[in-house]
Amino acid sequence: MVFTDTHCHFDFPAFDGDREALLAECWRRGVERIVVPGVAAAQWPRLSMLRHDRVSIYCGLGLHPWFSEQHESDHLAQLETGLREGNVVAVGETGLHGPAGKMDQQVELLEAQLDLARQFQLPVILHQVGAHNELIRSLKRCPPVCGGVVHAFAGSFEMAQEYRVAGLWLGVGGVISYPRARRTRAAVARLPASALVLETDGPDMPLSGFQGCRNSPVQIPSVFRALCQVRGVRLPDERLALARALEQNANNLFPAAKSPQ
Ligand SMILES: [Zn+2]
Repeated sequence: MVFTDTHCHFDFPAFDGDREALLAECWRRGVERIVVPGVAAAQWPRLSMLRHDRVSIYCGLGLHPWFSEQHESDHLAQLETGLREGNVVAVGETGLHGPAGKMDQQVELLEAQLDLARQFQLPVILHQVGAHNELIRSLKRCPPVCGGVVHAFAGSFEMAQEYRVAGLWLGVGGVISYPRARRTRAAVARLPASALVLETDGPDMPLSGFQGCRNSPVQIPSVFRALCQVRGVRLPDERLALARALEQNANNLFPAAKSPQ
C-alpha cells in the first residue's frame, strides 16, 4: 500500500537529527509522499531545502495563527511573491486558533490568505481549534474555489458536513486512535471515504500509546490502521480499496503534488 502524509511539519528542528533516516523508513513503509505546510515567513526558506531521492516532498506557504507574534505587516506581500514564484502545492497553513485570542486580527489574516488561494488557484490548508463558527463564516465570505483541507479534524459529523459543503477534505490524524475521541471517531466512521485524507501533523499529535513522543510521517500506516478499525474495514481487499481511495483524495486535494511513480 502507498500512502501520503498530507500534513507534517517535517522542516521543524525536531527532525534535524534524523530526517534522512525517517525518510528511508517512510519509503520502507509505503509513505511515498509528504506535504509540508509553511507557518511563518522566517521558516519558509527551510521548506525548499527538503528533498529526498525517493519520497516526494511538497510544500505549502502560509501564515499560521499560532505564530501570530512572528507575522509582520509585509509578510502577506512576501507570501504573494512566494506563491508567484511557484513550487508550492497549497496556501497554508493558515486558519484560526481560538485560544490565541485577537480573533479579528486572525480572521483578517486568514481571509487575506483565502483571497490569495483564489488568486493563485491553489487549495488551502486550514487549522481550526475552538473557532469552527468563525472559520465557516470566513469560508462563506472567501470561498476556497480550489478546495482545501481542514487538517487534524476533530469534531462532530455535522461540523464535518459544513466543511464538506465548503468544498474541503478532512485531515484524519492520531486523534482517532484515542477511544475517548468518541465524537470524532463517530464522524470519521460515518463520512464517505472520499471526504478523508491521512496526516500525522508531526512532530505534534502523537497516536495513542505514543503520548509525549515526537510524531512523524513513519506513523501514517498506524493512522491508516486506526481508520480501518474505526470504519470497520477488516478484509485485505477492503483495506487496499480504502488506501487507494485515500491516495486518490490526496491527488484531488493537491493536484500539483503529482503522485509518486
Ligand atoms: Zn500544522
